[in-house]
Amino acid sequence: MSGRFESEAGPTGRHAAGLFAAAAMHRDSNGNALHAPVLVLNASYEPINVCAARRALVLVLKGVAMTEEENGHFLHAARIAMRVPSVIRLLEYRRIPHQSRALSRKNILLRDRNTCQYCATVLPSGELTLDHVIPRSRGGSSTWENLVACCHPCNRRKGNQFPLEVGMKLMREPRAFNLHTSRHIMRLMGRSDDKWRKYLFY
Ligand SMILES: [Zn+2]
Repeated sequence: MSGRFESEAGPTGRHAAGLFAAAAMHRDSNGNALHAPVLVLNASYEPINVCAARRALVLVLKGVAMTEEENGHFLHAARIAMRVPSVIRLLEYRRIPHQSRALSRKNILLRDRNTCQYCATVLPSGELTLDHVIPRSRGGSSTWENLVACCHPCNRRKGNQFPLEVGMKLMREPRAFNLHTSRHIMRLMGRSDDKWRKYLFY
């Protein structure tokens, strides 16, 4: 797999990276309250992203967003105490492209939840490779629909064959990373958070 795609990460690439970083922070329960993940809603209340509390506070202070839910913590700075948000909402509606072209290794692994799409093994990013479902040598292109996360043993087994030729089957049809995928990740993160739930499950 060449590194060509890494440089193509556009706005949604950063969006996804932000989600991923926030997801990592979520696991650190002793983390600073300023690093706690905050759900970002569009002006329409549609969930669109996750950011760190620090960033959420900046958006609120700048008047770009307002706090919808608090997380129970206070930020003490100078002579003021601010309630740290758990959910914020942008005051102006922002159009979010539903289909992104930010094709990158990181985003494909994120889309596939670091799961080999042939044998369902979950692995750290460094132990996964990208597989061209239709091999490049047989005309397969480097697209969202033709690239999947794959463990090295499956990748070796498949070689330059079509999955069916070697009796392998994809867990699901690969699709582009879009708002639907992001929302799925947000739901996984917010499943146990009552303050997020009402915006994510409807
Ligand atoms: Zn595998």
